[in-house]
Amino acid sequence: MSKIVVKIGGSNLKDTASLHKVIHTIKKYNQPLIVVVSAFYGITDKLVEILTLVKHDRDEIQELTNFLLEMKQEVLEKQIDDQQILKTTYQKLEERVEELERYLLGIHYIGETPGFVEDVVLSYGERLSALVMTAILQSNNIDADEALPEEIGLVTNGQFGRATVDFENSRQALLKNLSGDKIYIVPGFYGISREKKVTLLGRGGSDYSAASIARCINAKSLDVWKDVDGFLTADPGLVKQAQRVKKLSYTEAAELAYFGAKILHPLTISPLMNTNIPVRIFNINHEIDLDNPFSVIDSSTKVSSQIIKSVTYNDDFAILKLIGPGVGIRPGLLADVTTKLGSNNINIKSVITSQTSINLLLARKDLLKAYNIVQELDLQLVNELQTVDDISVIALIGEGMMEKCGLAARMFGAMSRENINILIISEGASPVTAYFIIHQDERDKAVRAIHREFFENDAKN
Ligand code: ASP
Ligand code: MG
Repeated sequence: MSKIVVKIGGSNLKDTASLHKVIHTIKKYNQPLIVVVSAFYGITDKLVEILTLVKHDRDEIQELTNFLLEMKQEVLEKQIDDQQILKTTYQKLEERVEELERYLLGIHYIGETPGFVEDVVLSYGERLSALVMTAILQSNNIDADEALPEEIGLVTNGQFGRATVDFENSRQALLKNLSGDKIYIVPGFYGISREKKVTLLGRGGSDYSAASIARCINAKSLDVWKDVDGFLTADPGLVKQAQRVKKLSYTEAAELAYFGAKILHPLTISPLMNTNIPVRIFNINHEIDLDNPFSVIDSSTKVSSQIIKSVTYNDDFAILKLIGPGVGIRPGLLADVTTKLGSNNINIKSVITSQTSINLLLARKDLLKAYNIVQELDLQLVNELQTVDDISVIALIGEGMMEKCGLAARMFGAMSRENINILIISEGASPVTAYFIIHQDERDKAVRAIHREFFENDAKN
Protein backbone atom coordinates (compact mmCIF):
# COMPACT_ATOMS: atom_id res chain seq x y z
CA MET A 1 0.00 0.00 0.00
CA SER A 2 1.34 3.41 -0.82
CA LYS A 3 2.44 5.61 2.06
CA ILE A 4 1.35 9.00 3.26
CA VAL A 5 3.84 11.88 3.13
CA VAL A 6 3.38 14.21 6.10
CA LYS A 7 4.74 17.76 6.13
CA ILE A 8 5.41 19.53 9.42
CA GLY A 9 6.22 23.22 9.07
CA GLY A 10 8.42 25.45 11.22
CA SER A 11 5.48 27.04 13.01
CA ASN A 12 4.76 23.62 14.52
CA LEU A 13 8.38 23.13 15.57
CA LYS A 14 8.68 25.86 18.11
CA ASP A 15 8.30 24.96 21.76
CA THR A 16 7.42 22.09 24.06
CA ALA A 17 3.71 22.46 23.47
CA SER A 18 4.01 22.42 19.68
CA LEU A 19 6.41 19.45 19.73
CA HIS A 20 3.97 17.49 21.88
CA LYS A 21 1.30 18.06 19.29
CA VAL A 22 3.60 16.81 16.54
CA ILE A 23 4.43 13.62 18.46
CA HIS A 24 0.77 13.06 19.24
CA THR A 25 -0.13 13.56 15.57
CA ILE A 26 2.47 11.12 14.29
CA LYS A 27 1.34 8.53 16.84
CA LYS A 28 -2.26 8.94 15.69
CA TYR A 29 -1.39 7.80 12.19
CA ASN A 30 -0.18 4.48 13.60
CA GLN A 31 1.41 3.44 10.31
CA PRO A 32 4.70 3.88 8.41
CA LEU A 33 5.09 7.45 7.16
CA ILE A 34 7.46 9.78 5.44
CA VAL A 35 7.62 12.94 7.51
CA VAL A 36 9.22 16.00 5.93
CA VAL A 37 10.24 18.65 8.44
CA SER A 38 11.10 22.33 8.16
CA ALA A 39 13.70 24.02 10.31
CA PHE A 40 12.61 25.00 13.79
CA TYR A 41 10.73 28.28 13.82
CA GLY A 42 12.92 31.27 12.87
CA ILE A 43 16.15 29.27 12.41
CA THR A 44 16.48 29.71 8.64
CA ASP A 45 16.16 33.48 9.09
CA LYS A 46 18.95 33.35 11.65
CA LEU A 47 21.16 31.42 9.23
CA VAL A 48 20.44 33.95 6.48
CA GLU A 49 21.46 36.73 8.84
CA ILE A 50 24.71 35.07 9.89
CA LEU A 51 25.85 34.79 6.27
CA THR A 52 26.29 38.55 6.22
CA LEU A 53 27.48 39.09 9.78
CA VAL A 54 30.16 36.43 9.72
CA LYS A 55 32.07 38.07 6.89
CA HIS A 56 33.26 40.78 9.26
CA ASP A 57 32.83 39.34 12.69
CA ARG A 58 34.17 35.96 13.65
CA ASP A 59 32.57 36.08 17.11
CA GLU A 60 29.17 35.72 15.48
CA ILE A 61 29.98 32.08 14.77
CA GLN A 62 30.39 31.20 18.42
CA GLU A 63 27.29 33.12 19.31
CA LEU A 64 25.20 31.25 16.77
CA THR A 65 26.54 27.81 17.60
CA ASN A 66 26.02 28.41 21.33
CA PHE A 67 22.50 29.53 20.63
CA LEU A 68 21.76 26.47 18.50
CA LEU A 69 23.26 24.01 20.96
CA GLU A 70 21.51 25.54 23.96
CA MET A 71 18.19 25.69 22.20
CA LYS A 72 18.35 22.11 20.97
CA GLN A 73 19.66 20.86 24.29
CA GLU A 74 16.71 22.43 26.05
CA VAL A 75 14.31 20.84 23.59
CA LEU A 76 15.97 17.44 23.92
CA GLU A 77 16.09 17.51 27.71
CA LYS A 78 12.43 18.38 27.93
CA GLN A 79 11.37 15.68 25.49
CA ILE A 80 13.73 12.79 26.13
CA ASP A 81 13.92 10.85 29.38
CA ASP A 82 16.25 8.10 28.24
CA GLN A 83 19.75 9.29 29.21
CA GLN A 84 21.45 7.11 26.61
CA ILE A 85 19.41 8.50 23.69
CA LEU A 86 19.95 11.97 25.10
CA LYS A 87 23.71 11.55 25.19
CA THR A 88 24.14 10.08 21.71
CA THR A 89 21.79 12.65 20.20
CA TYR A 90 23.65 15.48 21.82
CA GLN A 91 26.92 14.14 20.42
CA LYS A 92 25.48 13.96 16.91
CA LEU A 93 24.12 17.44 17.33
CA GLU A 94 27.52 18.76 18.33
CA GLU A 95 29.10 17.11 15.30
CA ARG A 96 26.57 18.68 13.00
CA VAL A 97 26.96 22.11 14.53
CA GLU A 98 30.74 21.76 14.16
CA GLU A 99 30.30 21.08 10.44
CA LEU A 100 28.26 24.26 10.17
CA GLU A 101 30.92 26.12 12.13
CA ARG A 102 33.58 25.05 9.62
CA TYR A 103 31.58 26.41 6.68
CA LEU A 104 31.04 29.69 8.51
CA LEU A 105 34.73 29.97 9.30
CA GLY A 106 35.48 29.49 5.61
CA ILE A 107 33.12 32.35 4.75
CA HIS A 108 34.78 34.53 7.36
CA TYR A 109 38.26 33.90 5.95
CA ILE A 110 37.42 34.45 2.31
CA GLY A 111 35.02 37.31 3.10
CA GLU A 112 32.51 36.00 0.58
CA THR A 113 29.79 33.36 0.32
CA PRO A 114 29.97 31.27 -2.84
CA GLY A 115 26.52 30.04 -3.96
CA PHE A 116 27.19 26.43 -3.13
CA VAL A 117 28.34 27.28 0.41
CA GLU A 118 25.27 29.45 1.03
CA ASP A 119 23.04 26.51 0.14
CA VAL A 120 24.88 24.18 2.50
CA VAL A 121 24.78 26.65 5.39
CA LEU A 122 21.06 27.34 5.04
CA SER A 123 20.27 23.62 4.90
CA TYR A 124 21.46 23.24 8.50
CA GLY A 125 18.15 24.47 9.91
CA GLU A 126 16.45 21.38 8.51
CA ARG A 127 19.42 19.09 9.21
CA LEU A 128 19.23 19.97 12.88
CA SER A 129 15.46 19.71 13.15
CA ALA A 130 15.41 16.30 11.44
CA LEU A 131 18.06 15.00 13.83
CA VAL A 132 16.25 16.30 16.89
CA MET A 133 12.82 15.13 15.75
CA THR A 134 14.10 11.64 15.00
CA ALA A 135 15.56 11.33 18.48
CA ILE A 136 12.42 12.65 20.16
CA LEU A 137 10.24 10.18 18.27
CA GLN A 138 12.59 7.30 19.06
CA SER A 139 12.45 8.13 22.73
CA ASN A 140 8.67 7.98 22.42
CA ASN A 141 9.01 4.37 21.25
CA ILE A 142 8.33 5.22 17.65
CA ASP A 143 10.46 3.40 15.08
CA ALA A 144 11.86 6.54 13.42
CA ASP A 145 14.92 7.03 11.23
CA GLU A 146 16.48 10.15 9.81
CA ALA A 147 16.59 10.08 6.00
CA LEU A 148 18.76 12.82 4.49
CA PRO A 149 18.14 13.84 0.85
CA GLU A 150 21.73 12.85 -0.02
CA GLU A 151 21.14 9.37 1.40
CA ILE A 152 17.75 8.70 -0.11
CA GLY A 153 18.49 10.22 -3.52
CA LEU A 154 16.37 13.37 -3.78
CA VAL A 155 18.02 14.68 -6.93
CA THR A 156 17.63 18.25 -8.21
CA ASN A 157 18.46 20.09 -11.42
CA GLY A 158 21.51 21.52 -9.64
CA GLN A 159 20.55 25.17 -9.56
CA PHE A 160 21.76 26.81 -6.36
CA GLY A 161 19.26 28.75 -4.29
CA ARG A 162 16.16 27.69 -6.19
CA ALA A 163 16.54 24.23 -7.61
CA THR A 164 13.71 22.03 -8.82
CA VAL A 165 13.49 18.31 -8.16
CA ASP A 166 14.39 15.90 -10.96
CA PHE A 167 11.54 13.43 -10.55
CA GLU A 168 12.79 10.94 -13.13
CA ASN A 169 16.18 10.64 -11.49
CA SER A 170 14.82 10.52 -7.95
CA ARG A 171 11.96 8.06 -8.29
CA GLN A 172 13.72 4.70 -8.11
CA ALA A 173 16.04 5.63 -5.28
CA LEU A 174 13.28 7.21 -3.20
CA LEU A 175 11.00 4.22 -3.66
CA LYS A 176 13.76 1.89 -2.57
CA ASN A 177 15.16 3.96 0.26
CA LEU A 178 11.83 4.90 1.81
CA SER A 179 10.22 1.48 1.61
CA GLY A 180 10.82 0.35 5.20
CA ASP A 181 8.15 -0.27 7.74
CA LYS A 182 8.98 2.79 9.84
CA ILE A 183 8.74 6.56 10.16
CA TYR A 184 11.30 8.33 7.98
CA ILE A 185 12.17 11.87 8.98
CA VAL A 186 13.37 13.83 5.95
CA PRO A 187 14.76 17.36 6.26
CA GLY A 188 12.95 19.51 3.70
CA PHE A 189 14.22 22.55 1.79
CA TYR A 190 17.10 20.93 -0.08
CA GLY A 191 18.03 18.20 -2.49
CA ILE A 192 21.26 17.02 -4.05
CA SER A 193 22.59 17.81 -7.51
CA ARG A 194 23.99 15.09 -9.75
CA GLU A 195 27.40 16.34 -8.68
CA LYS A 196 26.32 15.63 -5.08
CA LYS A 197 26.09 19.28 -4.08
CA VAL A 198 23.44 20.58 -1.70
CA THR A 199 20.92 22.68 -3.63
CA LEU A 200 18.15 24.62 -1.91
CA LEU A 201 14.61 24.54 -3.22
CA GLY A 202 13.92 28.22 -2.45
CA ARG A 203 12.65 29.85 0.74
CA GLY A 204 9.69 28.01 2.18
CA GLY A 205 10.68 25.09 -0.04
CA SER A 206 10.05 22.20 2.30
CA ASP A 207 6.41 22.08 1.20
CA TYR A 208 7.80 21.53 -2.27
CA SER A 209 10.22 18.83 -0.98
CA ALA A 210 7.27 16.98 0.51
CA ALA A 211 5.18 17.30 -2.66
CA SER A 212 8.08 16.09 -4.80
CA ILE A 213 8.64 13.03 -2.63
CA ALA A 214 4.90 12.35 -2.67
CA ARG A 215 4.95 12.39 -6.45
CA CYS A 216 8.00 10.16 -6.78
CA ILE A 217 6.70 7.46 -4.46
CA ASN A 218 3.11 7.87 -5.66
CA ALA A 219 1.98 8.62 -2.11
CA LYS A 220 -1.51 7.92 -0.86
CA SER A 221 -1.75 11.58 0.12
CA LEU A 222 0.33 14.59 1.09
CA ASP A 223 -0.82 15.70 4.54
CA VAL A 224 0.25 19.23 5.40
CA TRP A 225 0.00 20.17 9.08
CA LYS A 226 -0.41 23.85 9.83
CA ASP A 227 -1.20 25.86 12.92
CA VAL A 228 -3.96 27.74 11.12
CA ASP A 229 -7.08 26.64 9.31
CA GLY A 230 -6.54 25.53 5.70
CA PHE A 231 -7.77 27.46 2.69
CA LEU A 232 -10.35 30.11 3.44
CA THR A 233 -12.53 32.30 1.26
CA ALA A 234 -10.30 35.25 2.26
CA ASP A 235 -7.54 36.21 4.67
CA PRO A 236 -9.24 35.94 8.10
CA GLY A 237 -7.09 38.82 9.32
CA LEU A 238 -8.98 41.05 6.89
CA VAL A 239 -12.36 39.40 6.64
CA LYS A 240 -14.01 38.15 9.83
CA GLN A 241 -16.62 36.26 7.85
CA ALA A 242 -14.05 34.18 5.93
CA GLN A 243 -15.23 30.58 5.58
CA ARG A 244 -13.49 27.29 5.02
CA VAL A 245 -12.89 26.09 1.44
CA LYS A 246 -13.28 22.36 1.73
CA LYS A 247 -12.27 21.31 -1.76
CA LEU A 248 -10.01 22.82 -4.37
CA SER A 249 -8.56 21.67 -7.64
CA TYR A 250 -4.80 21.62 -8.12
CA THR A 251 -5.01 24.63 -10.41
CA GLU A 252 -7.10 26.61 -7.96
CA ALA A 253 -4.69 25.88 -5.11
CA ALA A 254 -1.65 26.70 -7.25
CA GLU A 255 -3.17 30.02 -8.35
CA LEU A 256 -4.20 30.90 -4.80
CA ALA A 257 -0.71 30.22 -3.49
CA TYR A 258 0.79 32.20 -6.35
CA PHE A 259 -1.44 35.18 -5.71
CA GLY A 260 -0.70 35.33 -2.02
CA ALA A 261 -2.52 32.72 0.08
CA LYS A 262 0.19 31.95 2.62
CA ILE A 263 -0.99 28.48 3.46
CA LEU A 264 1.19 26.71 0.85
CA HIS A 265 4.38 27.55 -0.94
CA PRO A 266 3.48 28.47 -4.55
CA LEU A 267 5.52 25.58 -5.96
CA THR A 268 3.93 22.91 -3.78
CA ILE A 269 1.24 21.93 -6.21
CA SER A 270 3.40 21.70 -9.32
CA PRO A 271 4.76 18.16 -8.69
CA LEU A 272 1.24 16.89 -8.07
CA MET A 273 -0.52 18.25 -11.15
CA ASN A 274 -1.75 15.33 -13.27
CA THR A 275 -1.46 12.88 -10.40
CA ASN A 276 -4.14 11.41 -8.21
CA ILE A 277 -2.41 12.34 -4.98
CA PRO A 278 -4.61 14.52 -2.80
CA VAL A 279 -3.16 17.27 -0.63
CA ARG A 280 -4.93 17.28 2.72
CA ILE A 281 -4.53 20.31 4.97
CA PHE A 282 -4.95 19.96 8.73
CA ASN A 283 -4.75 22.34 11.65
CA ILE A 284 -2.65 20.79 14.42
CA ASN A 285 -4.48 22.88 17.02
CA HIS A 286 -7.79 21.13 16.43
CA GLU A 287 -8.79 17.71 17.64
CA ILE A 288 -7.01 15.24 15.35
CA ASP A 289 -9.37 13.60 12.90
CA LEU A 290 -7.40 12.08 10.05
CA ASP A 291 -10.54 11.50 8.00
CA ASN A 292 -11.55 15.14 8.09
CA PRO A 293 -8.91 17.48 6.75
CA PHE A 294 -9.68 21.16 6.78
CA SER A 295 -9.18 21.51 3.01
CA VAL A 296 -8.53 18.90 0.32
CA ILE A 297 -6.86 19.63 -3.00
CA ASP A 298 -7.39 16.90 -5.57
CA SER A 299 -8.13 16.06 -9.17
CA SER A 300 -11.81 15.29 -8.63
CA THR A 301 -12.73 18.81 -7.61
CA LYS A 302 -15.25 20.29 -9.97
CA VAL A 303 -16.83 23.63 -10.53
CA SER A 304 -18.74 24.76 -7.45
CA SER A 305 -22.15 26.32 -7.75
CA GLN A 306 -20.86 29.66 -6.62
CA ILE A 307 -17.83 29.42 -8.96
CA ILE A 308 -15.53 31.70 -6.97
CA LYS A 309 -13.81 29.77 -4.20
CA SER A 310 -11.57 32.44 -2.68
CA VAL A 311 -10.32 35.99 -3.02
CA THR A 312 -6.70 36.70 -2.25
CA TYR A 313 -4.23 39.54 -2.55
CA ASN A 314 -0.55 40.04 -3.07
CA ASP A 315 1.41 43.23 -2.42
CA ASP A 316 4.60 41.93 -3.96
CA PHE A 317 3.86 43.24 -7.41
CA ALA A 318 5.18 46.26 -9.26
CA ILE A 319 4.67 47.44 -12.83
CA LEU A 320 7.24 48.47 -15.39
CA LYS A 321 5.42 50.28 -18.17
CA LEU A 322 6.94 50.60 -21.63
CA ILE A 323 4.98 53.34 -23.36
CA GLY A 324 5.10 54.33 -27.02
CA PRO A 325 2.80 54.30 -30.04
CA GLY A 326 3.01 50.86 -31.58
CA VAL A 327 4.86 48.95 -28.84
CA GLY A 328 2.05 46.44 -28.91
CA ILE A 329 2.42 45.50 -32.55
CA ARG A 330 6.14 45.54 -33.09
CA PRO A 331 7.32 41.90 -33.50
CA GLY A 332 10.28 40.95 -31.33
CA LEU A 333 10.18 43.89 -28.96
CA LEU A 334 8.76 41.92 -26.07
CA ALA A 335 11.16 39.05 -26.77
CA ASP A 336 14.15 41.41 -26.56
CA VAL A 337 12.98 42.78 -23.24
CA THR A 338 12.02 39.47 -21.63
CA THR A 339 15.20 37.72 -22.78
CA LYS A 340 17.34 40.43 -21.28
CA LEU A 341 15.42 40.43 -18.00
CA GLY A 342 15.49 36.64 -17.86
CA SER A 343 19.23 36.52 -18.33
CA ASN A 344 19.50 38.90 -15.37
CA ASN A 345 17.49 36.54 -13.21
CA ILE A 346 14.41 38.74 -13.13
CA ASN A 347 11.17 36.81 -13.11
CA ILE A 348 8.28 38.34 -15.05
CA LYS A 349 5.12 37.53 -13.16
CA SER A 350 2.78 38.62 -15.92
CA VAL A 351 2.61 40.73 -19.08
CA ILE A 352 -0.37 42.83 -20.07
CA THR A 353 -0.10 44.67 -23.37
CA SER A 354 -2.00 47.15 -25.47
CA GLN A 355 -1.16 48.99 -28.67
CA THR A 356 0.60 51.78 -26.81
CA SER A 357 1.80 50.19 -23.61
CA ILE A 358 3.47 47.03 -22.38
CA ASN A 359 2.97 46.38 -18.68
CA LEU A 360 5.44 44.00 -17.10
CA LEU A 361 4.41 42.75 -13.68
CA LEU A 362 7.44 42.09 -11.51
CA ALA A 363 8.36 41.48 -7.88
CA ARG A 364 9.00 44.77 -6.11
CA LYS A 365 12.61 43.99 -5.40
CA ASP A 366 13.30 43.65 -9.14
CA LEU A 367 11.65 46.87 -10.29
CA LEU A 368 14.59 49.25 -10.21
CA LYS A 369 17.00 46.74 -11.67
CA ALA A 370 14.54 45.95 -14.47
CA TYR A 371 14.02 49.66 -15.16
CA ASN A 372 17.77 50.18 -15.57
CA ILE A 373 18.15 47.15 -17.82
CA VAL A 374 15.32 48.19 -20.14
CA GLN A 375 16.57 51.77 -20.14
CA GLU A 376 19.95 50.55 -21.36
CA LEU A 377 18.35 48.62 -24.21
CA ASP A 378 17.50 52.04 -25.66
CA LEU A 379 14.45 50.77 -27.53
CA GLN A 380 13.44 52.97 -30.44
CA LEU A 381 9.70 52.53 -30.06
CA VAL A 382 9.59 53.20 -26.35
CA ASN A 383 9.10 56.89 -25.58
CA GLU A 384 8.71 56.55 -21.90
CA LEU A 385 9.45 54.08 -19.14
CA GLN A 386 7.33 54.27 -16.01
CA THR A 387 7.44 52.41 -12.72
CA VAL A 388 4.49 51.87 -10.40
CA ASP A 389 5.01 50.17 -7.08
CA ASP A 390 2.33 51.17 -4.60
CA ILE A 391 -0.07 48.55 -5.89
CA SER A 392 -1.80 45.36 -4.81
CA VAL A 393 -3.09 42.56 -6.94
CA ILE A 394 -6.48 41.18 -5.98
CA ALA A 395 -7.23 37.74 -7.44
CA LEU A 396 -10.50 35.81 -7.61
CA ILE A 397 -10.10 32.10 -8.08
CA GLY A 398 -12.51 29.37 -9.13
CA GLU A 399 -12.89 26.63 -11.70
CA GLY A 400 -15.50 27.46 -14.32
CA MET A 401 -15.04 31.19 -14.09
CA MET A 402 -14.56 31.62 -17.84
CA GLU A 403 -17.80 29.85 -18.67
CA LYS A 404 -20.00 31.87 -16.36
CA CYS A 405 -21.28 35.23 -17.54
CA GLY A 406 -21.57 38.20 -15.29
CA LEU A 407 -18.78 37.54 -12.78
CA ALA A 408 -16.64 40.39 -14.08
CA ALA A 409 -19.62 42.72 -13.92
CA ARG A 410 -20.16 41.81 -10.26
CA MET A 411 -16.47 42.34 -9.57
CA PHE A 412 -16.49 45.78 -11.23
CA GLY A 413 -19.76 46.64 -9.50
CA ALA A 414 -18.31 45.81 -6.08
CA MET A 415 -15.33 48.05 -6.77
CA SER A 416 -17.28 50.96 -8.14
CA ARG A 417 -19.67 50.96 -5.15
CA GLU A 418 -16.61 51.45 -2.96
CA ASN A 419 -15.17 54.09 -5.32
CA ILE A 420 -12.07 51.99 -5.92
CA ASN A 421 -10.25 52.72 -9.11
CA ILE A 422 -9.05 49.64 -11.00
CA LEU A 423 -5.70 50.28 -12.69
CA ILE A 424 -5.40 47.09 -14.73
CA ILE A 425 -7.49 43.98 -15.09
CA SER A 426 -6.60 40.57 -16.48
CA GLU A 427 -8.95 37.69 -17.11
CA GLY A 428 -8.45 34.48 -19.00
CA ALA A 429 -4.68 34.04 -18.65
CA SER A 430 -5.54 31.09 -16.45
CA PRO A 431 -9.02 29.59 -16.79
CA VAL A 432 -9.51 29.74 -13.03
CA THR A 433 -8.25 33.24 -12.21
CA ALA A 434 -9.28 36.83 -12.73
CA TYR A 435 -7.18 39.53 -11.16
CA PHE A 436 -7.05 43.26 -11.02
CA ILE A 437 -4.63 45.84 -9.77
CA ILE A 438 -5.47 48.71 -7.46
CA HIS A 439 -3.61 51.19 -5.28
CA GLN A 440 -2.28 49.42 -2.24
CA ASP A 441 -4.04 51.69 0.24
CA GLU A 442 -7.38 50.43 -1.08
CA ARG A 443 -6.47 46.76 -0.80
CA ASP A 444 -8.31 45.91 2.44
CA LYS A 445 -11.46 47.69 1.32
CA ALA A 446 -11.33 45.86 -2.02
CA VAL A 447 -10.89 42.39 -0.51
CA ARG A 448 -13.79 42.98 1.89
CA ALA A 449 -16.02 44.27 -0.90
CA ILE A 450 -15.30 41.25 -3.11
CA HIS A 451 -15.92 38.91 -0.20
CA ARG A 452 -19.24 40.60 0.55
CA GLU A 453 -20.26 40.38 -3.07
CA PHE A 454 -19.43 36.71 -3.56
CA PHE A 455 -19.57 35.01 -0.17
CA GLU A 456 -21.67 36.77 2.40
CA ASN A 457 -25.31 36.15 3.21
CA ASP A 458 -26.90 38.25 0.57
CA ALA A 459 -24.45 37.04 -2.14
CA LYS A 460 -26.43 36.41 -5.32
CA ASN A 461 -25.06 33.01 -6.27
N1 ASP B 1 13.22 26.55 6.51
C1 ASP B 1 13.04 26.99 5.17
C2 ASP B 1 12.56 28.42 5.15
O1 ASP B 1 12.30 28.99 6.18
C3 ASP B 1 12.15 26.11 4.38
C4 ASP B 1 10.75 25.91 4.92
O2 ASP B 1 10.48 26.14 6.09
O3 ASP B 1 9.89 25.51 4.16
O4 ASP B 1 12.49 29.00 4.12
MG1 MG C 1 7.48 26.71 5.73
